[in-house]
Amino acid sequence: MTLLPENPNAFTRSPLDRAAHHRRDREWINAALEHSNTKVVPFFQHRPFVVERAGEVAIGWLGAHTLCRIASEEAPLLFLGLDREQTPHFAVVATDGELLADLGRFDDLRALGPRLTRNELAILGPAKSVFEWHARHGFCANCGAATLIVEAGWKRDCPACKAEHFPRVDPVCIMLPTFSDKCLLGRQRAWPRGMHSALAGFIEPGETIEEAVARETLEEAGLIVSEVTLHSTQPWPFPHSLMIGALAEVTHDAERIDPHELESARWFSREEARALIAGSFQGAFCPPPFAIAHQLLKTWALR
Ligand SMILES: [Zn+2]
Repeated sequence: MTLLPENPNAFTRSPLDRAAHHRRDREWINAALEHSNTKVVPFFQHRPFVVERAGEVAIGWLGAHTLCRIASEEAPLLFLGLDREQTPHFAVVATDGELLADLGRFDDLRALGPRLTRNELAILGPAKSVFEWHARHGFCANCGAATLIVEAGWKRDCPACKAEHFPRVDPVCIMLPTFSDKCLLGRQRAWPRGMHSALAGFIEPGETIEEAVARETLEEAGLIVSEVTLHSTQPWPFPHSLMIGALAEVTHDAERIDPHELESARWFSREEARALIAGSFQGAFCPPPFAIAHQLLKTWALR
């Protein structure tokens, strides 16, 4: 429900209208939970419930009447929005990971990423991020009292000091350093063998996106950024980041990596970058298309 231009990234362009004006309307939310068409997707330990038939994985939507069986009264329940037919969609944190074992399974969203549709990822992403936030923010950061979930899962209120708490979004810059006709990809020690990706880091208070791109590129790879071109953004629900993708032209190619951040880094020509995208590069690979790093590399490689 947007007139914005196409965003190439997964976890964007949800088919649901958030209809945020309903969040404070308890009566409307309660009525929606009585409706026979209403759909609910359970999560357990931050894993969404999915069903698999004939090798195809899909969100395991349940009717709202199942809520009393799968979740406690206090469990985080999130109003996700309305589809084109005005059907309300919710997500809930389930009490038990085994309850629905005869119907499907709770599975890791990152692993499911390449197998779910774009629409499904855009629906599950915000639910996972908000549930991650609920799991870590049960107590008021101001006074330490237990907080209460309000506004259909989108806020926590502190009854003791009246502080209001909203779900976190952590901005991260992710950039592809480029010099002449080549680009730099790094790898972290913990990554699977051969995986190379763009550089990335959290944006700090007081920084512009461009300044953060320049600082991180200098810190991690010893490269001086002369120009930043913003590419696209991506909500990244691991746990609740907003990835801000950029191409970063640098002034030289004598990289000097910070061994605390990177295990290695190497330059790739456009031809090599195309092979990475195609998955045909011997000895190295890049993240899958559902990661913004892939889209950044693709944009540059196909220029
Ligand atoms: Zn408080």
